[in-house]
Amino acid sequence: MAKRIVFLGGGACTLVALRRIAEEARHFKLDVDLTIVTADEYHYFPAFFPDVALGEAEPDDVRAPVRNIAERYGAKLILDKVTEIKPDERLVVTAKGERIGYDYLFICLGTRYAWERYPGLREAALHNYTLDGALKLREALAEFKGGDIVVLVPEFPHRCPGYPFEVLGRLVLYARRRGIKANVKLVHVVPMQMALEHLYDLAVTWHRIHQEIGDIEYIMGKKLERVDPNTKTIHFQDGETMKYDLLIAAPPPDVPEPLKGTEFVWKQDPRFIETTFPTFRSRKYDDVFIPTDGAMPSVNLPFAGVPVHYAAVAAADTVLSDMIGVKANIAFPDNITIVLDFGTTGVLVVFDVKQAPGGVAQTKPYIGLTHPWIKLIKYSFYKGWIDALKPVSE
Ligand SMILES: Cc1cc2nc3c(=O)[nH]c(=O)nc-3n(C[C@H](O)[C@H](O)[C@H](O)COP(=O)(O)OP(=O)(O)OC[C@H]3O[C@@H](n4cnc5c(N)ncnc54)[C@H](O)[C@@H]3O)c2cc1C
Repeated sequence: MAKRIVFLGGGACTLVALRRIAEEARHFKLDVDLTIVTADEYHYFPAFFPDVALGEAEPDDVRAPVRNIAERYGAKLILDKVTEIKPDERLVVTAKGERIGYDYLFICLGTRYAWERYPGLREAALHNYTLDGALKLREALAEFKGGDIVVLVPEFPHRCPGYPFEVLGRLVLYARRRGIKANVKLVHVVPMQMALEHLYDLAVTWHRIHQEIGDIEYIMGKKLERVDPNTKTIHFQDGETMKYDLLIAAPPPDVPEPLKGTEFVWKQDPRFIETTFPTFRSRKYDDVFIPTDGAMPSVNLPFAGVPVHYAAVAAADTVLSDMIGVKANIAFPDNITIVLDFGTTGVLVVFDVKQAPGGVAQTKPYIGLTHPWIKLIKYSFYKGWIDALKPVSE
């Protein structure tokens, strides 16, 4: 009987894991029944959302229909919201009442943006963490006449921890292109001392690039209490306040809705899902795999798409090895590289990755290279990712 493999979500995690399983199943003539269950009809490439906000990309550059993925890799597509996972019954329940059984489950639901955690944040903050958010930020930037742009990071880690540092310079350059003056301030919850202790190489290089660009200031170690959108004031827990003309924020992370209060939540920090390194198999359920980004902090990997890519392959290979009975042939790599666009130049951040006791990883980040060409590599990779999911005629 065909093995029923169900993928929850339509992002990078699902695409990479599904593709690996579909291609290998064809190669090894395995009988598989593949299903994607996702709430949104589009697959997005979120790392491209800042380009939309800055007017350098259009919505169709950053998305492709999930249907294209399903058709290409021979999967059924259920466009519906997952409301519950019942691992003891090997069952997924959806908002429209579908009950989907599985032999293997991939939880690829990403992370939830908990804007409500701080009063006023949702109303006050612009962001490019969704396509809709990026389009609103684009409008606000177009109307911006100059002044203080605050990039606020209220919690750490958050999805793509390098993004706020990337966007600072791009905002300054955007304002200069339009002939307006912007003072761009990064207000970050992590104290400078801690950033230097843990990420010295990165902090020093990024700061140097920002100094060269100019008009960028760091205010580190500030804990957010609330934001008042009427007076455009940020209130911090230490009693201090700060005014802004335009506020851009990184969202506080939370587990996706269907996982709330379940045993998939990481007890040590309930904002994240728990997974294991290097197979990304659930600690409790052998038939459940969790290579999505909202689980990366639980295994000490960066909360970003690059580790998701390798994690999805490692998880898919583990399922294949379960089915074929041979050891998985693609392990999680010894180092992974995250590509950052700082506006004037690009930066490769390399993470050496080792297995540590207890089913987690140990990572050591450092700067691999800084060069303007890296911006082009990043852009080509992003464009290629989405273009590859579109029919040739589009
Ligand atoms: C501004 C920005 C910049 C970034 N830059 C980088 C970068 O430079 N490098 C990098 O490596 N990463 C970057 N990232 C992070 C990267 O985009 C994510 O880590 C990656 O997209 C995570 O993929 P995923 O499949 O795990 O989650 P997602 O892509 O979020 O997919 C989750 C899927 O689950 C679906 N879903 C959620 N809840 C439900 C539900 N209840 N029912 C059904 N479906 C549901 C969603 O619709 C979605 O299809 C960036 C992200 C952002 C926002």
